Amino acid sequence: MAGIAEVQACVGLGANLGDAPAAVRQALRDLDALPQTRCVRASSLYRSAPVDASGPDFINAVALLHTTLDPYALLAELQRLELAAGRERPWRNAPRTLDLDLLLYGDLRLEDPRLTVPHPRMLQRAFVLLPLAEIAPERVSASQRQAVLGQAVETLPAS
Ligand code: ATP
Ligand code: CA
Ligand code: CA
Repeated sequence: MAGIAEVQACVGLGANLGDAPAAVRQALRDLDALPQTRCVRASSLYRSAPVDASGPDFINAVALLHTTLDPYALLAELQRLELAAGRERPWRNAPRTLDLDLLLYGDLRLEDPRLTVPHPRMLQRAFVLLPLAEIAPERVSASQRQAVLGQAVETLPAS
Protein backbone atom coordinates (compact mmCIF):
# COMPACT_ATOMS: atom_id res chain seq x y z
CA MET A 1 0.00 0.00 0.00
CA ALA A 2 1.34 3.45 -0.86
CA GLY A 3 2.05 5.66 2.15
CA ILE A 4 0.19 8.92 2.66
CA ALA A 5 2.31 11.81 1.43
CA GLU A 6 4.07 13.73 4.16
CA VAL A 7 3.11 17.39 4.35
CA GLN A 8 5.12 20.28 5.75
CA ALA A 9 2.99 22.16 8.28
CA CYS A 10 3.89 25.27 10.27
CA VAL A 11 2.52 25.84 13.76
CA GLY A 12 2.63 29.13 15.67
CA LEU A 13 3.06 28.80 19.43
CA GLY A 14 2.20 31.49 21.98
CA ALA A 15 1.87 31.75 25.76
CA ASN A 16 1.60 34.59 28.26
CA LEU A 17 0.47 33.03 31.54
CA GLY A 18 2.57 31.19 34.10
CA ASP A 19 6.06 30.13 33.01
CA ALA A 20 5.47 30.97 29.35
CA PRO A 21 8.96 30.06 28.04
CA ALA A 22 8.69 26.66 29.75
CA ALA A 23 5.22 26.12 28.29
CA VAL A 24 6.45 26.90 24.76
CA ARG A 25 9.52 24.66 25.12
CA GLN A 26 7.35 21.82 26.43
CA ALA A 27 4.87 22.31 23.58
CA LEU A 28 7.72 22.04 21.04
CA ARG A 29 8.62 18.65 22.52
CA ASP A 30 4.94 17.62 22.56
CA LEU A 31 4.54 18.54 18.87
CA ASP A 32 7.44 16.23 18.03
CA ALA A 33 5.67 13.42 19.94
CA LEU A 34 2.34 13.74 18.10
CA PRO A 35 1.23 10.67 16.13
CA GLN A 36 2.38 10.52 12.48
CA THR A 37 4.30 13.76 13.07
CA ARG A 38 7.79 15.00 13.74
CA CYS A 39 9.09 18.46 14.45
CA VAL A 40 11.92 19.03 11.98
CA ARG A 41 12.78 22.61 12.97
CA ALA A 42 11.92 24.96 15.81
CA SER A 43 12.57 28.70 15.89
CA SER A 44 14.13 30.63 18.72
CA LEU A 45 11.78 31.97 21.37
CA TYR A 46 10.54 35.53 20.82
CA ARG A 47 8.99 38.03 23.22
CA SER A 48 6.30 40.53 22.19
CA ALA A 49 3.80 42.83 23.87
CA PRO A 50 0.14 41.70 23.64
CA VAL A 51 -1.77 43.04 20.59
CA ASP A 52 -5.47 43.88 21.15
CA ALA A 53 -5.17 42.12 24.47
CA SER A 54 -4.21 42.56 28.10
CA GLY A 55 -1.75 40.72 30.29
CA PRO A 56 1.95 39.93 30.38
CA ASP A 57 4.22 39.82 27.33
CA PHE A 58 3.84 36.86 25.00
CA ILE A 59 6.46 34.23 24.31
CA ASN A 60 6.16 33.00 20.73
CA ALA A 61 7.83 30.48 18.46
CA VAL A 62 7.13 28.65 15.22
CA ALA A 63 7.62 24.93 14.56
CA LEU A 64 8.02 23.19 11.23
CA LEU A 65 6.37 19.77 11.24
CA HIS A 66 6.36 16.88 8.83
CA THR A 67 3.08 15.05 9.23
CA THR A 68 0.74 12.58 7.58
CA LEU A 69 -2.20 13.76 9.73
CA ASP A 70 -4.88 15.53 7.69
CA PRO A 71 -5.35 19.22 8.62
CA TYR A 72 -8.42 18.63 10.82
CA ALA A 73 -6.72 15.79 12.67
CA LEU A 74 -3.67 18.00 13.21
CA LEU A 75 -5.86 20.85 14.50
CA ALA A 76 -7.58 18.43 16.89
CA GLU A 77 -4.15 17.36 18.23
CA LEU A 78 -3.13 21.02 18.67
CA GLN A 79 -6.33 21.72 20.61
CA ARG A 80 -5.75 18.65 22.77
CA LEU A 81 -2.28 19.98 23.68
CA GLU A 82 -3.77 23.43 24.48
CA LEU A 83 -6.29 21.82 26.84
CA ALA A 84 -3.62 19.68 28.47
CA ALA A 85 -1.64 22.88 29.13
CA GLY A 86 -4.67 24.37 30.92
CA ARG A 87 -5.96 26.61 28.11
CA GLU A 88 -9.23 28.41 28.90
CA ARG A 89 -11.11 30.84 26.65
CA PRO A 90 -12.94 33.25 29.01
CA TRP A 91 -13.00 35.98 26.36
CA ARG A 92 -11.50 36.80 22.98
CA ASN A 93 -7.72 37.43 23.11
CA ALA A 94 -7.63 36.47 26.80
CA PRO A 95 -4.22 35.69 28.30
CA ARG A 96 -3.40 32.04 27.68
CA THR A 97 -1.20 29.24 28.98
CA LEU A 98 -0.75 27.94 25.42
CA ASP A 99 -2.03 28.84 21.95
CA LEU A 100 -1.23 26.66 18.95
CA ASP A 101 -2.26 28.05 15.57
CA LEU A 102 -1.97 26.09 12.35
CA LEU A 103 -0.29 28.67 10.13
CA LEU A 104 0.36 26.67 6.97
CA TYR A 105 -0.43 23.15 5.83
CA GLY A 106 1.62 22.55 2.71
CA ASP A 107 0.12 24.76 0.03
CA LEU A 108 -3.43 24.04 1.12
CA ARG A 109 -5.93 26.90 1.10
CA LEU A 110 -9.02 26.28 3.20
CA GLU A 111 -11.69 28.65 4.45
CA ASP A 112 -13.84 27.04 7.06
CA PRO A 113 -14.82 28.69 10.40
CA ARG A 114 -13.30 25.69 12.18
CA LEU A 115 -10.08 25.83 10.19
CA THR A 116 -8.73 28.50 7.86
CA VAL A 117 -5.27 28.06 6.33
CA PRO A 118 -3.09 29.94 5.77
CA HIS A 119 -3.96 31.41 9.17
CA PRO A 120 -5.94 34.55 8.26
CA ARG A 121 -4.04 36.96 10.51
CA MET A 122 -0.47 35.64 10.22
CA LEU A 123 0.68 38.28 7.73
CA GLN A 124 -0.19 41.09 10.18
CA ARG A 125 1.96 39.65 12.99
CA ALA A 126 5.69 40.11 13.44
CA PHE A 127 5.62 37.52 16.26
CA VAL A 128 4.58 34.97 13.61
CA LEU A 129 6.51 36.15 10.54
CA LEU A 130 9.91 36.64 12.23
CA PRO A 131 10.13 33.14 13.75
CA LEU A 132 8.64 31.66 10.57
CA ALA A 133 11.26 33.44 8.45
CA GLU A 134 13.98 32.13 10.78
CA ILE A 135 13.13 28.47 10.08
CA ALA A 136 11.38 28.62 6.67
CA PRO A 137 12.65 31.77 4.90
CA GLU A 138 11.08 30.63 1.61
CA ARG A 139 7.62 31.01 3.19
CA VAL A 140 8.01 34.75 4.00
CA SER A 141 8.71 37.33 1.31
CA ALA A 142 10.85 40.41 1.89
CA SER A 143 7.82 42.68 1.49
CA GLN A 144 5.81 40.63 4.00
CA ARG A 145 8.65 40.94 6.50
CA GLN A 146 9.00 44.65 5.73
CA ALA A 147 5.30 45.23 6.49
CA VAL A 148 5.65 44.19 10.16
CA LEU A 149 9.04 45.70 10.94
CA GLY A 150 7.47 48.44 13.09
CA GLN A 151 6.28 45.89 15.67
CA ALA A 152 8.50 45.38 18.70
CA VAL A 153 9.58 41.75 18.93
CA GLU A 154 12.82 40.50 20.47
CA THR A 155 14.45 37.09 20.58
CA LEU A 156 15.05 35.45 23.92
CA PRO A 157 18.58 34.27 24.70
CA ALA A 158 18.80 30.49 24.11
CA SER A 159 18.75 28.37 27.26
P1 ATP B 1 -6.18 34.25 16.41
O1 ATP B 1 -6.82 33.18 15.56
O2 ATP B 1 -6.49 35.65 15.96
O3 ATP B 1 -4.72 34.03 16.61
P2 ATP B 1 -6.78 32.96 18.92
O4 ATP B 1 -5.62 32.08 18.57
O5 ATP B 1 -6.79 33.58 20.28
O6 ATP B 1 -6.91 34.14 17.83
P3 ATP B 1 -8.55 30.81 19.46
O7 ATP B 1 -9.53 31.11 20.55
O8 ATP B 1 -7.32 30.03 19.83
O9 ATP B 1 -8.14 32.17 18.73
O10 ATP B 1 -9.25 30.01 18.27
C1 ATP B 1 -10.58 30.21 17.89
C2 ATP B 1 -10.97 29.20 16.82
O11 ATP B 1 -10.24 29.41 15.61
C3 ATP B 1 -10.67 27.74 17.13
O12 ATP B 1 -11.75 27.14 17.80
C4 ATP B 1 -10.40 27.09 15.77
O13 ATP B 1 -11.42 26.19 15.38
C5 ATP B 1 -10.43 28.26 14.82
N1 ATP B 1 -9.38 28.24 13.79
C6 ATP B 1 -9.61 28.59 12.48
N2 ATP B 1 -8.49 28.50 11.77
C7 ATP B 1 -7.50 28.10 12.63
C8 ATP B 1 -6.10 27.84 12.45
N3 ATP B 1 -5.50 27.99 11.26
N4 ATP B 1 -5.39 27.45 13.55
C9 ATP B 1 -6.00 27.31 14.75
N5 ATP B 1 -7.34 27.54 14.97
C10 ATP B 1 -8.07 27.94 13.92
CA1 CA C 1 -3.50 32.76 17.95
CA1 CA D 1 -5.51 29.79 18.41
